[in-house]
Amino acid sequence: MDRSQMQEKLDKLIWRVEEARVRRSEHHIVKIVAVSKYTDIENIRMLYDLGQRAFGENKVQSLQERIEAVDDLPVEWHFIGRLQKNKINHLIRANPFLMQSLDSLELADALQKRLETHNANMECLLQINSAKEETKAGVMPEEAEEIYLKVKESCPNITLRGVMTIGAHVEDQKVIKQSFETTYSIFEKLKKHGADICSMGMSNDFELAIECGSNMVRIGSLIFK
Ligand SMILES: *Cc1c(COP(=O)(O)O)cnc(C)c1O
Repeated sequence: MDRSQMQEKLDKLIWRVEEARVRRSEHHIVKIVAVSKYTDIENIRMLYDLGQRAFGENKVQSLQERIEAVDDLPVEWHFIGRLQKNKINHLIRANPFLMQSLDSLELADALQKRLETHNANMECLLQINSAKEETKAGVMPEEAEEIYLKVKESCPNITLRGVMTIGAHVEDQKVIKQSFETTYSIFEKLKKHGADICSMGMSNDFELAIECGSNMVRIGSLIFK
């Protein structure tokens, strides 16, 4: 991809986000995380050069490699994938800006133990399985608030910043919308406990997610494919 093509894609995306956020409220601010899992270092550098600062990866190893490859740039790295327990130490060493995919109390406990050993902290989002899909990770909506508070209480080295969800994997917009509304209502309840990030929306559904209150979208294919 050349620079002008990428510029055009980014501009179009920013404009669509802008229109969706104003439909929500003029005061609503949305951060775009560029999911770089489909692309290479060269394109990450190009997008950075066009002004994009937040990038996301869903595998610990690619996150590590990419952080190293662009360590001359002040990129904000997000981890958005499933974290296997044997990769926890690697993730701690990579030290992402935000770990968006804390998907169980068990994982939180395991992460807490390692963070303590490394004398480190990590900012995380609790992932919600908002459409209760078997193939998806995350806590069930009914237990989300309770688990969030438990993690807050029992994991001092984890700073919870809010919630993340992946929209329902269906064609029916109503069902997708429902999954975003479910997540947003959990987020609203958690605001009084300090939650300030509601990460939802990907290339195919980010406008709907923003209209439902998302303030962080994770966009891959729309930019890089
Ligand atoms: C890949 C991925 C994205 C980006 O998906 P696109 O549909 O390509 O925008 C967002 N969130 C997560 C968790 C992902 O794994």
